[in-house]
Amino acid sequence: MGVSFIDNLLSMPSTDPDDARRRKLLNILLMGMAILALLTLLAALVAGVSSAKHLFFISPVMLVGIAAIFAINRYGAGSLASSLFVLVFTIGIAFADEPRQVVNGRSLFLFTIPILMASVILRPWASFVMAGVNSLVITFIELFVLNRVPGVPSMLGFFAFAFISWLSARSLENALKDLRALNRELDQRVEDRTKALREANRQLAEANERLRELDRLKSRFVSMVSHELRTPLSAVQGFAEMLLAEIYGPLSERQTNALERITSNTKRLLHLINDLLDQARIEAGQIALQPHPFSPDDLVEEVQSTMGMLASSEGLELTTEVATDVPDTLHGDEKRLHQILVNLINNAIKFTDEGGVDVRIYRPDGQLRGYWGMEVSDTGPGISEEDQERIFDPFQRVDNSSTREHLGVGLGLSIVKELVDLMGGRLALESEIGEGSTFTILLPLHQQGGTTDE
Ligand code: ADP
Repeated sequence: MGVSFIDNLLSMPSTDPDDARRRKLLNILLMGMAILALLTLLAALVAGVSSAKHLFFISPVMLVGIAAIFAINRYGAGSLASSLFVLVFTIGIAFADEPRQVVNGRSLFLFTIPILMASVILRPWASFVMAGVNSLVITFIELFVLNRVPGVPSMLGFFAFAFISWLSARSLENALKDLRALNRELDQRVEDRTKALREANRQLAEANERLRELDRLKSRFVSMVSHELRTPLSAVQGFAEMLLAEIYGPLSERQTNALERITSNTKRLLHLINDLLDQARIEAGQIALQPHPFSPDDLVEEVQSTMGMLASSEGLELTTEVATDVPDTLHGDEKRLHQILVNLINNAIKFTDEGGVDVRIYRPDGQLRGYWGMEVSDTGPGISEEDQERIFDPFQRVDNSSTREHLGVGLGLSIVKELVDLMGGRLALESEIGEGSTFTILLPLHQQGGTTDE
């Protein structure tokens, strides 16, 4: 607080930065002089009234003079205050010592002080004016007080000193001017850049909004088209299955073969359409979970009955297990959990040539005790670290012979990831080329809340 008060007292608000600087400098000098005057007064008090009578007179006069110059500097013209200050200072020097010492002795050097001061608190060229004034003072003392012809060397010295002061003050002012110009240029540049940045931001926001709108349109389009495709396809599949069941009469072997091809292909198409629909709904934020209590044993049994046949038809063994410490009843959206497992097992069967697929429901130890887990591991080709980072994005497939051999559009894992996120769970993949893959999903044992219908 003290510092800012002094700073306020010394600082001079002015539109001209040079003027403000000079006035502030004068204030600093005045403050120094005031402190000096007060110390002198104090010294006089300590020394006693009788032995320092003249100091009792000088110090208050000095303080009044300082206050007057300060007032002019603050409320009037700065250059007037500065001129008064250097003149009074010079007069003070003229009377500070014996006349002989002033013009030619130990006090002569004091005259350099107002010369230097004038160059900084007035104008650089004012140092020459002060050199002139000093020369006049000395000439006056020599002629009228000491009654002799004035000497030239000291005056030459004043002007030499004035020249040096002028040079230094001028280069200081020039440097400050350059600095201010540089500052202005930088300010302008920052302002220009900020403006350009604001404009770029605005354009980006607009482009973003357009993209979001396009995305919404795309999701709506996919959802509509998928729906329109699903209805007739389901009818095709239904009728083909009825034909296969020989409801419409007995079939020859060739007819049965053709119908089996029809049903398996419509199934695949339906699966793809369902995936597209799910993806579109996820992107539109339209998927809502329907959690309820369910039995993990039933879930695993259901999965075994849906996928077991497919696995054995590919020459693979599908094993399922529910660990003993898993509660009999869990809470979650069973239909979506089933979908997650089917997607993962489908991939495992698709990409594995020999060996098997293991599905395990378990409870992790330690810090993750509040979760339950589903694990699907296979003895397939494995996935490289680089590919592990992108296969969870929509429409991403690994570019290798094993993937090329099998149909798919790269939606299965992205749907799994989105569903797991929606359930507040974690998804992890551990895999190495040639070593098989293990997908792990951890879900909170006690889910917070739950959403209702789509
Ligand atoms: P899709 O199966 O339709 O290609 P997914 O999103 O389910 O799409 O899988 C993306 C890609 O990840 C697959 O194309 C495949 O390259 C790779 N992948 C997924 N699961 C496995 C797995 N169990 N073993 C090896 N690669 C896999």
